Amino acid sequence: MPHRQIAVAVVVGLSFWTISRNRAKSLLRASLVHGNRFLLRFSSRAYRPQDGLMVVFAPHQDDETLGCGGLIALRRYEGWPVHVVFLTDGGGSHLNHPTVSVPAIIDRRRTEARAALAELGMESCAIHFLDEPDGTLASIDADRSSALSDRIADLLGKLQPVEVFLPCNPDASSEHDAAHGIIIQAIHRSGRRSSVWQYPIWSWWNPLRLLHHIFHAQQRVRLPLADFTASKAAAIACYGSQTIPTPPWSESVIPTELLATLQSDAEYFFAYPLPPSHEPLAEI
Ligand SMILES: [Zn+2]
Repeated sequence: MPHRQIAVAVVVGLSFWTISRNRAKSLLRASLVHGNRFLLRFSSRAYRPQDGLMVVFAPHQDDETLGCGGLIALRRYEGWPVHVVFLTDGGGSHLNHPTVSVPAIIDRRRTEARAALAELGMESCAIHFLDEPDGTLASIDADRSSALSDRIADLLGKLQPVEVFLPCNPDASSEHDAAHGIIIQAIHRSGRRSSVWQYPIWSWWNPLRLLHHIFHAQQRVRLPLADFTASKAAAIACYGSQTIPTPPWSESVIPTELLATLQSDAEYFFAYPLPPSHEPLAEI
């Protein structure tokens, strides 16, 4: 066989092998996600919200809607105040894109966040942007981490929430895990004894991480979205920079399968005992 035909045969063979392998991985992930959802549905109780102000912390502009969009819409519909706090500026989602600059994506994601949260019934005065550089929380130094915890603690002191929602740890994202630690430190510093709930995002995409919460969380609760499914979908649609490929990229920032998983018929939250602080509690 001439060399050229052998080369073509090798390329075609490798392509089929790669496609089959990716397809097999995708099918395996889908079945594990389905299994996790089944376990969660039958190991969780119905979530009963507490009367009063709620704060949702999000490392990036979209986490709050993907993880808690139905909950935010429900609480606003019932007339309770909800505040959303974004830790980072979101500037890391399009790094190395040939036409989208970091300042441009920061502006766009901020605009998208306001539009998404308006869909969920929130007012812009209840949205807080702390503007830490996106992608730096996992390597944040002690001084910056402490300063950020202080800013969050001040906010908690002013808002006095009865419930706080933050990304779960582990969440298969080093930035989410780092944000979790900084927020927990801030809760200690604020002296506030709010109920603390954790919501999954990337751990849906990494089923073994989600299993950790299914087996180890002290409480698992479930919020069926029911009437708020459409509000959540409308809010997610505002985040076009994350959900639609930005040419010449052919993939969206949030993988399509993960997006479908996060648009299911229920949201799930986990509670753990508050981990101990390594510093004295603030005066209440
Ligand atoms: Zn995120």
